[in-house]
Amino acid sequence: MSRVFSLKMARQTAEAFLKEEGITTLPVDPFAIAESRDIAVEGKPETADGVSGMLLRHGNNFGIVFATHIPSKGFQRFSVSHELGHYFLPGHVDQVLKNGIHVSRGGFITADPYELEADHFATGLLMPEGPFRKAMDRHDPGLEAIEAVADLCLTSRTATAIRYAELTDTAVAVIMSTGGTIDYCFLSEAMKSLPKLDWLRKGSPLPPGTATARFAAEPGRVRAGERIADAVDVRDWLGGTTRAAISEESVGLGSYGKVLTVLVSSQIGQDDDSDDEEREEDVIERWTPRFSR
Ligand SMILES: [Zn+2]
Repeated sequence: MSRVFSLKMARQTAEAFLKEEGITTLPVDPFAIAESRDIAVEGKPETADGVSGMLLRHGNNFGIVFATHIPSKGFQRFSVSHELGHYFLPGHVDQVLKNGIHVSRGGFITADPYELEADHFATGLLMPEGPFRKAMDRHDPGLEAIEAVADLCLTSRTATAIRYAELTDTAVAVIMSTGGTIDYCFLSEAMKSLPKLDWLRKGSPLPPGTATARFAAEPGRVRAGERIADAVDVRDWLGGTTRAAISEESVGLGSYGKVLTVLVSSQIGQDDDSDDEEREEDVIERWTPRFSR
């Protein structure tokens, strides 16, 4: 099974589970789901870096421990859902619980396929596509929409923003950075339709001259959770050959120096006249060689 396919399957396994259980409204409660399977859940301060939780097995009894060193409800609910992923996904219990204990580093930070599948299960469980889309469509695209849906799903703004980029029909880019350096960038399908994009790579600096780059250079403002907004050209961020106005919104995510940036264009990827013209040119170009044969 290809990686992309297995991750999609993991999300869909969670969504199918919710349907079977008759859970159709947000927020989904992973603690109640664990209880319904007699899985004991306990919070514990975790000192080892990057550990999000644990799944334990003793005979046929299962237990979940979630890390409390990050005092965020969204993070903790995601951690519990990640462990539920190991419990529910086919093959996981046999693979990850060989020694009776599995230590998770969830949150999309590892390349371990079992960890990634569990993360994607958690995404599908807490942010199922149908209810998520409905909630998202009640708001104009942008940071405010992401924050409103995060409030509804009780998920972190980061996890919600990634899911948002995946499901929205609007041209959106979600960029996470730490101290001015890019951690990752997700583009919605409509944004990917821009030709000749420069992908923002992990480890590269925020594009110089942008309001976000200036904002990220002031750790005090980032720590205070301040936000900035600007109107710019998409090429300032993503390069390419198409001129298009986009909104740039960024918010500081507190003491970790992280900044969440959301770029939105109502123009890119939508049918309008300039697109039609371009398509016409494309068609002419494609046919020209035949005529000259
Ligand atoms: Zn895990």
